[in-house]
Amino acid sequence: MSFESVVASARSEGRTLLNEVEAKQTVIEAGVPATETRLATSADEARKHADELGYPVVLKIVSNDIAHKSDVGGVKLNLENGDQVAAAYDEIMANARKAEPNASIQGISVQKMAKPGTEVIVGMTTDPQFGPVMMFGLGGVMVEVMKDVAFRVVPLSDRDARQMITDIKGKAILDGVRGQPPADVSALANTILKVSEFVAAHPEVKELDLNPVLAYEDGAVAVDARIVIGEN
Ligand code: ADP
Ligand code: MG
Repeated sequence: MSFESVVASARSEGRTLLNEVEAKQTVIEAGVPATETRLATSADEARKHADELGYPVVLKIVSNDIAHKSDVGGVKLNLENGDQVAAAYDEIMANARKAEPNASIQGISVQKMAKPGTEVIVGMTTDPQFGPVMMFGLGGVMVEVMKDVAFRVVPLSDRDARQMITDIKGKAILDGVRGQPPADVSALANTILKVSEFVAAHPEVKELDLNPVLAYEDGAVAVDARIVIGEN
Protein backbone atom coordinates (compact mmCIF):
# COMPACT_ATOMS: atom_id res chain seq x y z
CA MET A 1 0.00 0.00 0.00
CA SER A 2 1.32 3.46 -0.92
CA PHE A 3 1.46 6.29 1.62
CA GLU A 4 -1.47 7.96 -0.15
CA SER A 5 -3.68 4.88 0.25
CA VAL A 6 -2.59 4.41 3.88
CA VAL A 7 -3.64 8.04 4.54
CA ALA A 8 -6.92 7.55 2.66
CA SER A 9 -7.81 4.42 4.63
CA ALA A 10 -6.89 6.03 7.97
CA ARG A 11 -9.04 9.08 7.14
CA SER A 12 -11.97 6.91 6.05
CA GLU A 13 -11.83 5.36 9.54
CA GLY A 14 -11.58 8.79 11.19
CA ARG A 15 -8.02 8.11 12.40
CA THR A 16 -5.12 10.58 12.42
CA LEU A 17 -2.68 8.03 13.90
CA LEU A 18 -0.99 5.57 11.57
CA ASN A 19 -0.19 2.31 13.33
CA GLU A 20 3.26 0.70 13.52
CA VAL A 21 2.67 -1.48 10.45
CA GLU A 22 1.51 1.48 8.32
CA ALA A 23 4.23 3.81 9.65
CA LYS A 24 7.02 1.25 9.04
CA GLN A 25 5.81 0.61 5.49
CA THR A 26 5.79 4.37 4.91
CA VAL A 27 9.30 5.04 6.19
CA ILE A 28 10.76 2.00 4.38
CA GLU A 29 9.28 3.39 1.14
CA ALA A 30 10.91 6.74 2.00
CA GLY A 31 14.31 5.02 2.16
CA VAL A 32 14.64 4.66 5.93
CA PRO A 33 15.91 1.25 7.11
CA ALA A 34 13.26 -0.27 9.43
CA THR A 35 12.29 -3.81 10.37
CA GLU A 36 9.73 -5.27 7.95
CA THR A 37 6.54 -5.49 10.03
CA ARG A 38 3.37 -7.47 9.29
CA LEU A 39 -0.08 -7.43 10.87
CA ALA A 40 -1.61 -10.63 12.25
CA THR A 41 -5.19 -11.01 13.44
CA SER A 42 -4.85 -14.56 14.80
CA ALA A 43 -2.18 -16.62 16.55
CA ASP A 44 -1.97 -18.86 13.46
CA GLU A 45 -1.39 -15.90 11.18
CA ALA A 46 1.31 -14.56 13.54
CA ARG A 47 3.05 -17.94 13.40
CA LYS A 48 2.87 -17.95 9.59
CA HIS A 49 4.40 -14.45 9.37
CA ALA A 50 7.15 -15.44 11.82
CA ASP A 51 7.97 -18.62 9.84
CA GLU A 52 8.34 -16.47 6.71
CA LEU A 53 10.34 -13.65 8.32
CA GLY A 54 12.67 -15.98 10.26
CA TYR A 55 13.35 -16.27 14.00
CA PRO A 56 13.81 -14.73 16.52
CA VAL A 57 10.84 -12.37 16.18
CA VAL A 58 9.06 -9.65 18.17
CA LEU A 59 5.26 -9.37 18.65
CA LYS A 60 3.52 -6.08 19.57
CA ILE A 61 -0.03 -4.90 20.16
CA VAL A 62 -1.50 -2.77 17.34
CA SER A 63 -4.15 -0.38 18.68
CA ASN A 64 -5.02 3.25 17.98
CA ASP A 65 -5.81 3.64 21.66
CA ILE A 66 -2.49 2.35 23.07
CA ALA A 67 0.41 4.81 22.71
CA HIS A 68 2.98 3.01 24.86
CA LYS A 69 2.88 -0.65 23.94
CA SER A 70 5.35 -1.93 26.55
CA ASP A 71 3.44 -0.21 29.37
CA VAL A 72 0.47 -2.54 28.84
CA GLY A 73 2.51 -5.75 28.41
CA GLY A 74 2.04 -5.34 24.67
CA VAL A 75 5.59 -6.17 23.49
CA LYS A 76 7.22 -9.64 23.52
CA LEU A 77 10.85 -9.77 22.39
CA ASN A 78 13.11 -12.59 21.20
CA LEU A 79 10.50 -15.28 20.41
CA GLU A 80 12.34 -18.30 19.05
CA ASN A 81 9.72 -20.59 17.53
CA GLY A 82 6.10 -20.90 16.42
CA ASP A 83 4.83 -22.16 19.77
CA GLN A 84 6.36 -19.17 21.57
CA VAL A 85 4.79 -16.87 18.96
CA ALA A 86 1.32 -18.39 19.39
CA ALA A 87 1.58 -18.16 23.20
CA ALA A 88 2.86 -14.56 23.02
CA TYR A 89 -0.06 -13.62 20.73
CA ASP A 90 -2.60 -14.76 23.33
CA GLU A 91 -0.67 -13.22 26.22
CA ILE A 92 -0.39 -9.79 24.53
CA MET A 93 -4.13 -9.80 23.71
CA ALA A 94 -4.99 -10.68 27.32
CA ASN A 95 -2.58 -8.05 28.72
CA ALA A 96 -3.93 -5.32 26.43
CA ARG A 97 -7.60 -6.12 27.12
CA LYS A 98 -6.90 -6.10 30.86
CA ALA A 99 -4.95 -2.80 30.81
CA GLU A 100 -7.23 -1.02 28.30
CA PRO A 101 -10.65 -2.73 28.29
CA ASN A 102 -12.15 -0.15 25.91
CA ALA A 103 -9.28 -0.01 23.41
CA SER A 104 -10.03 -0.98 19.83
CA ILE A 105 -7.38 -3.52 18.82
CA GLN A 106 -6.39 -3.93 15.16
CA GLY A 107 -4.22 -6.98 15.75
CA ILE A 108 -0.63 -7.83 16.59
CA SER A 109 2.48 -6.92 14.61
CA VAL A 110 5.22 -9.42 13.77
CA GLN A 111 8.81 -8.45 12.92
CA LYS A 112 12.30 -9.79 13.20
CA MET A 113 14.23 -9.21 16.42
CA ALA A 114 17.04 -6.77 15.56
CA LYS A 115 20.49 -7.31 17.07
CA PRO A 116 21.36 -5.10 20.07
CA GLY A 117 22.60 -1.58 19.29
CA THR A 118 22.65 1.93 20.78
CA GLU A 119 19.07 3.23 21.02
CA VAL A 120 18.48 6.69 19.55
CA ILE A 121 15.36 8.64 18.62
CA VAL A 122 14.67 10.39 15.33
CA GLY A 123 11.50 12.46 15.31
CA MET A 124 9.60 15.25 13.62
CA THR A 125 7.12 17.62 15.23
CA THR A 126 5.24 20.55 13.73
CA ASP A 127 6.03 23.89 15.32
CA PRO A 128 3.26 26.50 14.97
CA GLN A 129 5.85 29.09 13.91
CA PHE A 130 8.61 27.15 12.12
CA GLY A 131 6.58 24.26 10.67
CA PRO A 132 8.22 20.82 10.54
CA VAL A 133 11.20 20.46 12.89
CA MET A 134 13.47 17.41 13.15
CA MET A 135 14.55 16.04 16.51
CA PHE A 136 17.44 13.74 17.42
CA GLY A 137 18.37 12.29 20.79
CA LEU A 138 19.62 9.25 22.63
CA GLY A 139 16.92 6.74 23.55
CA GLY A 140 15.32 5.97 26.89
CA VAL A 141 16.12 8.02 29.99
CA MET A 142 18.49 10.35 28.08
CA VAL A 143 15.53 11.92 26.29
CA GLU A 144 12.88 11.51 28.98
CA VAL A 145 14.94 12.63 31.99
CA MET A 146 17.89 14.56 30.61
CA LYS A 147 16.00 16.26 27.73
CA ASP A 148 19.24 15.84 25.75
CA VAL A 149 17.91 16.49 22.25
CA ALA A 150 18.86 18.53 19.18
CA PHE A 151 16.42 20.27 16.81
CA ARG A 152 16.68 21.59 13.23
CA VAL A 153 14.02 23.20 11.05
CA VAL A 154 13.13 21.25 7.85
CA PRO A 155 14.57 21.18 5.16
CA LEU A 156 17.97 19.91 6.37
CA SER A 157 21.29 19.65 4.58
CA ASP A 158 23.56 16.66 5.13
CA ARG A 159 25.72 18.97 7.28
CA ASP A 160 22.68 19.91 9.44
CA ALA A 161 21.88 16.24 10.00
CA ARG A 162 25.45 15.45 11.06
CA GLN A 163 25.58 18.51 13.32
CA MET A 164 22.38 17.45 15.11
CA ILE A 165 24.10 14.20 16.05
CA THR A 166 27.26 15.89 17.34
CA ASP A 167 25.24 18.62 19.16
CA ILE A 168 23.83 16.35 21.88
CA LYS A 169 25.54 16.32 25.27
CA GLY A 170 25.63 12.52 25.38
CA LYS A 171 27.53 12.34 22.10
CA ALA A 172 30.33 10.36 23.80
CA ILE A 173 27.93 7.41 23.98
CA LEU A 174 27.85 7.36 20.16
CA ASP A 175 31.67 7.55 20.00
CA GLY A 176 31.76 4.21 21.80
CA VAL A 177 32.28 3.77 25.53
CA ARG A 178 33.77 0.89 27.55
CA GLY A 179 34.83 -1.17 24.58
CA GLN A 180 31.54 -0.56 22.74
CA PRO A 181 32.07 0.17 19.03
CA PRO A 182 31.22 3.69 17.77
CA ALA A 183 27.83 4.27 16.11
CA ASP A 184 27.60 4.76 12.35
CA VAL A 185 27.02 8.55 12.21
CA SER A 186 26.55 8.50 8.41
CA ALA A 187 23.74 5.94 8.72
CA LEU A 188 22.04 8.03 11.43
CA ALA A 189 22.43 11.22 9.37
CA ASN A 190 20.91 9.38 6.40
CA THR A 191 17.89 8.37 8.50
CA ILE A 192 17.41 11.99 9.68
CA LEU A 193 17.73 13.29 6.10
CA LYS A 194 15.33 10.75 4.58
CA VAL A 195 12.69 11.57 7.20
CA SER A 196 13.28 15.28 6.63
CA GLU A 197 12.84 14.88 2.85
CA PHE A 198 9.73 12.74 3.32
CA VAL A 199 7.97 15.19 5.65
CA ALA A 200 8.92 18.14 3.43
CA ALA A 201 7.20 16.38 0.52
CA HIS A 202 4.14 15.39 2.61
CA PRO A 203 2.76 18.38 4.56
CA GLU A 204 -0.13 16.19 5.78
CA VAL A 205 2.38 14.53 8.17
CA LYS A 206 2.20 16.40 11.50
CA GLU A 207 4.34 14.10 13.68
CA LEU A 208 6.69 11.22 12.98
CA ASP A 209 8.62 9.22 15.57
CA LEU A 210 11.20 6.49 15.14
CA ASN A 211 11.68 5.43 18.76
CA PRO A 212 13.97 3.64 18.91
CA VAL A 213 16.37 3.49 16.01
CA LEU A 214 19.11 0.97 16.81
CA ALA A 215 22.52 2.34 15.82
CA TYR A 216 25.31 -0.07 14.91
CA GLU A 217 28.97 0.21 14.01
CA ASP A 218 27.73 -0.37 10.48
CA GLY A 219 24.20 0.85 9.76
CA ALA A 220 21.06 1.65 11.75
CA VAL A 221 17.50 0.30 11.82
CA ALA A 222 14.20 1.70 13.15
CA VAL A 223 12.28 -0.90 15.19
CA ASP A 224 9.31 1.26 16.27
CA ALA A 225 7.48 3.95 14.27
CA ARG A 226 4.43 6.15 14.56
CA ILE A 227 3.03 8.86 12.30
CA VAL A 228 0.30 11.42 12.98
CA ILE A 229 -1.42 13.02 9.99
CA GLY A 230 -3.53 16.17 9.93
CA GLU A 231 -7.32 16.05 9.74
CA ASN A 232 -9.26 16.23 6.38
P1 ADP B 1 6.70 1.13 22.82
O1 ADP B 1 7.60 2.28 22.56
O2 ADP B 1 5.33 1.39 22.27
O3 ADP B 1 6.64 0.70 24.23
P2 ADP B 1 8.52 -0.39 21.10
O4 ADP B 1 8.03 -0.91 19.79
O5 ADP B 1 9.42 0.78 21.06
O6 ADP B 1 7.24 -0.16 22.01
O7 ADP B 1 9.25 -1.60 21.84
C1 ADP B 1 9.79 -1.44 23.14
C2 ADP B 1 11.28 -1.76 23.15
O8 ADP B 1 11.49 -3.09 22.68
C3 ADP B 1 12.11 -0.88 22.21
O9 ADP B 1 12.50 0.32 22.84
C4 ADP B 1 13.30 -1.77 21.91
O10 ADP B 1 14.24 -1.73 22.98
C5 ADP B 1 12.67 -3.17 21.91
N1 ADP B 1 12.32 -3.60 20.53
C6 ADP B 1 11.16 -3.34 19.87
N2 ADP B 1 11.17 -3.89 18.64
C7 ADP B 1 12.35 -4.52 18.50
C8 ADP B 1 12.97 -5.29 17.45
N3 ADP B 1 12.35 -5.52 16.29
N4 ADP B 1 14.21 -5.79 17.69
C9 ADP B 1 14.86 -5.57 18.85
N5 ADP B 1 14.32 -4.87 19.88
C10 ADP B 1 13.09 -4.35 19.72
MG1 MG C 1 8.92 2.81 21.06
